Amino acid sequence: MQTIAIRGSLLSLLLFISAAAHAEWVKRVTDGIMGTRIVVELWSEDRAKADAAIDAVLEEMRHVDESMSTYKPTSEVSQVNAHAAEAPMKISKELFDLLVTAKEYSRITDGAFDITYASVGYLYDFRKHVHPNEAQIDKALPAVNYEHIILDEKNQTVRFTRKGVRIDLGGIAKGYSVDRGIEVLQKRGFDRAFVSAGGDSRIIGDRFGKPWMVGIRDPRGPPGSVITRIPLTDAAMSTSGDYERFFEEDGVRFHHIIDPHTGHSASKVRSATIIGPKAVRTDGLSKTAFVLGPEKAMEIYNRIDDIDAIIVKLDGAVIYSKGLEQLPAK
Ligand code: ADP
Ligand code: MG
Repeated sequence: MQTIAIRGSLLSLLLFISAAAHAEWVKRVTDGIMGTRIVVELWSEDRAKADAAIDAVLEEMRHVDESMSTYKPTSEVSQVNAHAAEAPMKISKELFDLLVTAKEYSRITDGAFDITYASVGYLYDFRKHVHPNEAQIDKALPAVNYEHIILDEKNQTVRFTRKGVRIDLGGIAKGYSVDRGIEVLQKRGFDRAFVSAGGDSRIIGDRFGKPWMVGIRDPRGPPGSVITRIPLTDAAMSTSGDYERFFEEDGVRFHHIIDPHTGHSASKVRSATIIGPKAVRTDGLSKTAFVLGPEKAMEIYNRIDDIDAIIVKLDGAVIYSKGLEQLPAK
């Protein structure tokens, strides 16, 4: 009896060791979803399950891209842009909820975050170095205002109050898709993982007693250079930078964050990094500093309990929110 029990426990020990021997960090890097690079990394004791989970994360992100991209004329958002000025339009619960969230961030940020920026934003093409002239901006600007978006919760519809209003979720959809990816992994039982889409990332768990170390890029340094590394566990982080998509003309830097009040590129900082519990939140807040400037934006960030921020100012100086002031600058 006893021998059998010992044999039994020996066997389970051996099984445990062999399972543990196969446990590993599994990482996959994928380009081409939402026009950016997706990284998924997780701790797994079963390679097949890890691969299937990463497939599911990417599938979810493709779905978000299909429904929210303004580059795809068939997407739900493109349909909204084409028809919501004519009559209230019934939309999916997912898009409706994200539009509610987007308007919430407009209010929190004094209108700096505004998905109707696209009413002038569509006149820019950063790859082709195209920007609107003043007359074009003046004509389009009245359509920029998040209050033009009327959301009816009961009927789950969206309506624009006037012609010319366009929305673009480029400033929040990546963060949202990262959160969706993390949910996919959590549902499958993973508790140590990293998901990122471009500058938006989120982490669950730690690296066995150690935090993940996530670098913040030096906005004017060579690729790969960082100004500091932040230790993160169970947190999301988003960085917006004026170096992401830009061109220069006559000494003026045109880049992809637009000031909803002027229709010009918002250039009051070089980069802003937000740390918080969810990526939809950190993404929604990272544009604010460009529009409002470092001091006003930091005031807003400091007012929000679960948010921290690191801003690289135009002169290269780095400032931290109250919760991070003990961090070294290098
Ligand atoms: P990434 O696309 O790499 O995540 P950001 O998080 O900085 O970069 O988001 C930049 C995008 O936000 C722009 O490409 C545009 O789609 C959108 N955007 C630009 N200006 C605004 C704004 N004032 N409010 C909301 N979204 C904006
Ligand atoms: Mg982002």
